[in-house]
Amino acid sequence: MANRVALVTGAGSGIGRASAILLASRGYSVGVLGHNQEEIIATAAAIAESGGAAIALAADIALENQMREAVRAIVRQFGHLDAVVANAGINGVWAPIDDLKPHEWDQTVRVNLTGTYLTLHITVPELKRSGGGSIVVVSSINGTRTFTTPGATAYTATKAAQVAIVQQLSLELARHHIRINAVCPGEIETNIEANTALRDEAETAIPVIWPEGQVPITGGAPGKSEDVAEVIVFLVSDAARHVTGTPIWVDGGQGLLR
Ligand code: NAP
Repeated sequence: MANRVALVTGAGSGIGRASAILLASRGYSVGVLGHNQEEIIATAAAIAESGGAAIALAADIALENQMREAVRAIVRQFGHLDAVVANAGINGVWAPIDDLKPHEWDQTVRVNLTGTYLTLHITVPELKRSGGGSIVVVSSINGTRTFTTPGATAYTATKAAQVAIVQQLSLELARHHIRINAVCPGEIETNIEANTALRDEAETAIPVIWPEGQVPITGGAPGKSEDVAEVIVFLVSDAARHVTGTPIWVDGGQGLLR
């Protein structure tokens, strides 16, 4: 992995943090991008303490100028870019469609979809300059296998669109030796609850009884960020050299139940 450089968005917590730390442990120099200065500095410090190389990059993924500056900074620091993990996202507001306000819809689309677009729009030229690379987009079981999460219409729409983007771009970018794949996590223990607002669940919940707990492989317990990070690092690595345009569900089977 000598001299490989990866950018991870939303790397201040959860799946992004675990992916940044695992990539660094596998020899990647890592750009730790997020909009919470304290958190990204902590992730970068944890990597440095373990002997890895990291740079904290403060940016809102939905703001073009901030993203351009962040990508300039990682290339200035490490010389080039080989891999991108487009992970940052929010659950946003989950509510009945007639109660979901336009500004709430816009915020979920702004972060999850426009943020993903901007991340790719601004990093792909760097991957081309490197002669190729690997992109992993963090989608969800929601919008890909699962449509019963109460009120999650805006979230589900953005997560489905991310997989569509991955499939579309896998063809467009193949000629540049750039692979692009998605991971679709089920319930994972992270801080995402802090970015979730659920209203009027009774009006949108589907009244089903799950057969044997919600996550079959663990007997019901949610997954860990590291469970997703392992698959992300596999997709980034040369071990996945023939894999592109592919969603991988990392959900312990949860998405098949729901
Ligand atoms: P998390 O712990 O909240 O991590 C998300 C990170 O993204 C946070 O550090 C957050 O910062 C950052 N972020 C949010 N909006 C941002 C923005 N506009 N610009 C820059 N950074 C931003 O949640 P997570 O569960 O690890 O989520 C990571 C990804 O996994 C998301 O795309 C999510 O949809 C997906 N996912 C999660 C689960 C799950 O069960 N946890 C399941 C399926 C898919 P702040 O906290 O400071 O806002």
